[in-house]
Amino acid sequence: MNFTISQQRVYFSTGETKDINFRQQQLIILKKLVIDYEIEIVKALQSDLHKPEFEAVASEIILTIKEIELAIKSLKTWTKPHKAPVPWQLLPASARIEPEPLGVVLIIGAWNYPFQLVILPLIGAIAAGNCAVIKPSEIAVHTSKLLGEIIPKYFDPAYISVVEGGIETTQQLLTEKFDHIFFTGSLHVGKIVLAAAAKHLTPVTLELGGKSPCIVDTDIHVEHTARRIIWGKFMNAGQTCIAPDYILVNQKIKAQLLVNLEKCLNEFYGKDPQSSKDYARIINRKNFDRLVNLLNNTQIMIGGETNADHLYISPTLINNVVFTDSIMEEEIFGPILPIIEYTDIREAIDWINSQPKPLALYLFSQNKNLQQHVLQTTSSGAVCLNETVLHSSISSLPFGGVGNSGIGSYHGKASFDTFSHYKSILQNPFWLDIKLRYPPYQGKLSVFKQLFKF
Ligand code: NAD
Repeated sequence: MNFTISQQRVYFSTGETKDINFRQQQLIILKKLVIDYEIEIVKALQSDLHKPEFEAVASEIILTIKEIELAIKSLKTWTKPHKAPVPWQLLPASARIEPEPLGVVLIIGAWNYPFQLVILPLIGAIAAGNCAVIKPSEIAVHTSKLLGEIIPKYFDPAYISVVEGGIETTQQLLTEKFDHIFFTGSLHVGKIVLAAAAKHLTPVTLELGGKSPCIVDTDIHVEHTARRIIWGKFMNAGQTCIAPDYILVNQKIKAQLLVNLEKCLNEFYGKDPQSSKDYARIINRKNFDRLVNLLNNTQIMIGGETNADHLYISPTLINNVVFTDSIMEEEIFGPILPIIEYTDIREAIDWINSQPKPLALYLFSQNKNLQQHVLQTTSSGAVCLNETVLHSSISSLPFGGVGNSGIGSYHGKASFDTFSHYKSILQNPFWLDIKLRYPPYQGKLSVFKQLFKF
C-alpha cells in the first residue's frame, strides 16, 4: 500500500473544509452519489450477502439519505457557537463554546452492513468539517469495490478517499497519525485499533458487538413479541450487531412463545427459507463453518438446515439452552437463536450482569415496575422495550456501546459531536482590569475569599 495521509493534511490546512457552505455542498454531493448509484449499491449488497432488496434499501440506502438530510438541515444549528455562563466575579469576561473539526479522520468498516457502516460516519465527518479516509471491509468484496470506484467520482481524493484492502492494509493505515479513528468491528480488532491509536494519542470511537439479550416476560402481546424478535434476529440472516443474540423467556409463557415464533418464521420465510427472496446468506465460508460448529450438541427445535455451496443456514431456534452451553460463550452473529427459560427474573438479570455489557438489551413486558427494574439494574449500549433493533434507525438516539460493546456513539447529532472538538473560548475586554488576582498577593486573600463566599 502506497497511501499516506499527507495529501489530506495539506487539503485540511487550506481551511476549505471548515466553511459551512462547503460542508453543506459536500453533503448534497454525497446524497446525489447515493441516489445515482442506488441500484448498483443494492446489487453489490446482494452479491455480498444475498441481502434482500427491501433490507438493503431500508437499512442501507434510506437510513443514509435520512441522515444526510438531517445533517444538511441541522448544520447551521450544530455549528453555532454556544454562550456559556461566566461567574459574576469574572465579569465583564464572556465565554462561549465552538465546535471545530478534528482534522483527518479514518473510518474502518465491518462487512455486515458494508455500505452504511462507512457512509453514516462519513456524514458526521463531513458535517463536522474534516477530511476522511475510508477503509471498507474487504470481506464484503463487491461493496468495497463499488465504494472504491464511486467515491473518487464525486470527491477529491485529497478530501475523501477510499483505501481498499485487508488486514495488512488496515494495519499500515493504523501506523499513520490520524486525528480520530472510527472503527466498526469485533472486540478483538477493536483492541488492535485502540493500541495503534494510543501510539499517536489519537481518540477513537469503537463500535463493537457482543451478545444482546432478549428478555420475554409474561405480560406481553405474544404474537407481536414473536414477530418483532424474529424480524430483528433473522434480517440479514442474523448478521446484525444488535440482533437479539439469545432469548431469556419466563418459563410460564415459553410454550406459547415457541408456537408463535415458529408461526412467524413460516409467515416470513415460508416452509423453505432457502427459496425465499427475503432471506440473506452467510458472508463467507469461514463464518459459515463457525456457525455450523455452533450447532453441534444443541437441541435444534426449528431449522438447522445448511448448504455450504450456497452459504445457507436456515433460521434456527435452539431449545432448552442453559447458561453453561458453549453457544452462550461468543457472539453468534448468524441465524441461530438459543432459548433459555427462567423462573425468576433475578436469574436472567444476574446472568446478564455476569457477562460483558451488551450493545443492546431487549425487554418484552408491559409491566412498568419490571421495565424500571431492568433499566435500573442492567447496563447496555441501548434498550428497547417491546421492540428489537429499531432504535438504530432513530437519528435522535446516539448509537453505540458501553464497556466491551464499544466506546463513543454516532448517528444524527452524535455523529457531528464525535468528529468535532468543542473549543472553549473566553474573551475579556480591556476596559476593566481588577488587580485582585495579580501578585503581590499580600492582603488580598481575605477579600478574595469574601468575594467567592469561601
Ligand atoms: P472485524 O473486526 O474482523 O473487521 C472489521 C475491520 O477491521 C475490517 O475492515 C477489517 O479489514 C479490519 N481488520 C480485521 N482484522 C484486523 C487486524 N488484525 N488488524 C487491523 N485491522 C483488521 O469485524 P467484522 O467481522 O467485519 O464484523 C463483525 C463484528 O463487528 C461483530 O462483532 C459485530 O457485532 C461488530 N459490528 C458492530 C457494529 C456496531 O455498530 N456496533 C456494526 C456491525 C458489526
